[in-house]
Amino acid sequence: SHENDQPAPRVTVIGTGYLGATHAVCMAIMGFDVLGVDVDQRKIDMLSAGKVPFFEPGLPEKLEEALASGRLRFSTDFDEAASFGDVHFVCVGTPQAPDSSAADLRYVDAAFTALATRIDRKALLVGKSTVPIGTAARITTMVQSISPLGAELELAWNPEFLREGFAVQDTLFPDRLVFGVSSDWAEQQLRRVFEPILDLDTPLIVADLATSELVKVAANSFLATKISFINAMAEICEATGADVNHLAKALSLDDRIGGRFLKPGLGFGGGCLPKDIRAFKHRAEELGVGQAVSFLGEVDSINNRRRVRTVDLIRELAGGSLAGVRVAALGAAFKPNSDDVRDAPALDVARLLYLEGAIVSVYDPEANANAHRAYPDLNYVGSMAEAVDKADVVALLTEWSEFRNADPDTLGALVSHRRILDGRHALNANDYTSKGWQYRALGRPAQA
Ligand code: NAD
Repeated sequence: SHENDQPAPRVTVIGTGYLGATHAVCMAIMGFDVLGVDVDQRKIDMLSAGKVPFFEPGLPEKLEEALASGRLRFSTDFDEAASFGDVHFVCVGTPQAPDSSAADLRYVDAAFTALATRIDRKALLVGKSTVPIGTAARITTMVQSISPLGAELELAWNPEFLREGFAVQDTLFPDRLVFGVSSDWAEQQLRRVFEPILDLDTPLIVADLATSELVKVAANSFLATKISFINAMAEICEATGADVNHLAKALSLDDRIGGRFLKPGLGFGGGCLPKDIRAFKHRAEELGVGQAVSFLGEVDSINNRRRVRTVDLIRELAGGSLAGVRVAALGAAFKPNSDDVRDAPALDVARLLYLEGAIVSVYDPEANANAHRAYPDLNYVGSMAEAVDKADVVALLTEWSEFRNADPDTLGALVSHRRILDGRHALNANDYTSKGWQYRALGRPAQA
């Protein structure tokens, strides 16, 4: 339904990790010819062979469908990318810098440089990575100075809001689209590549480059703040004997507040929220407006204190010391339905227990391999039964349904002591206490 008679734009996606692989596959599903490019030969080989290099429900089927359509290819060749694409999406990582709380922009700069020095016809470069405000303006200048086309090569920003675990659905049916553009031409190009989504009446916000960068970090800051708010209330509960579960429920029924992201527990982690709020605070300080978001430092601290408090509760359950105590650590991923262990609270707790001399058995349904790569010192086992075998304390750290649905008696028959720490308020306390378990959860009085 392209109203002008031009052929549909050809799309390249630079960086094929969680975001880029999903984006490339979904663009092909929507009917565009797509080339996915990464510097990691292993990833490109796997994707070309129809294998998704990470765990994402639904993506393997969509990858297969996209490859079968003949519209999707993968390559490590930037010359090919430059000549193929009309619209180039940059989806490379922006991790926390090794030596500060700022974002590390080396991959973003490298990707735009690789494209800008090679492209020799009018094209649109679109950043999708999460970046500090002002990055798009800086890259615009950089691109114009190194491109053989000069100012003809245009830049836009299109922040991404997908959630790992729901990446395909969030990409094909997003809550909203945000286009950061500096010309009508750029807006029209983006409207064409997102036409199938806009046809679904998906809300669109067209803004300047800085606003589009800010939307993403502001959204993540709000979500992180909501989680840390209820976890701060959990700290108050712990000091007073109040119950944060009842508190959260009561608050959530006020529809001005709402229940989503108001779940008390071990807190947030992953490759986005922690590094994004730190980078945002860092950038605001550089801009001389650090005070406006200094609360993000508190949000981060509250979040990190939950991990320490979780270790405290496990130590209490164990009778005061962790030395030689066998702990079953259930979960390593930062959330269920993901194999992502970047800044994962679960893995951090397992590591802290280990450092205090506990004998920790970690089991995650999908993340054991990534966790092992991040913390090779911990002991990883292949099943929940192995993890809880002769455990002195069971710690539920990531709320996979396998753990939520476990039977307290079946588990109880395997452990040395019926003691459980529910780090995610994922269990019904009565189900456990009625079977002779000691049950502890963050922000709640001790049960049984
Ligand atoms: P990732 O680490 O899974 O993927 C990044 C990929 O970029 C890797 O495959 C890496 O090899 C590749 N890469 C690095 N340098 C490159 C270069 N010069 N050229 C080509 N490829 C290169 O990271 P991710 O989780 O996909 O995140 C990417 C960006 O998207 C980040 O800015 C992140 O904040 C943002 N984001 C992520 C999510 C998410 O849920 N993962 C959601 C929204 C936004």
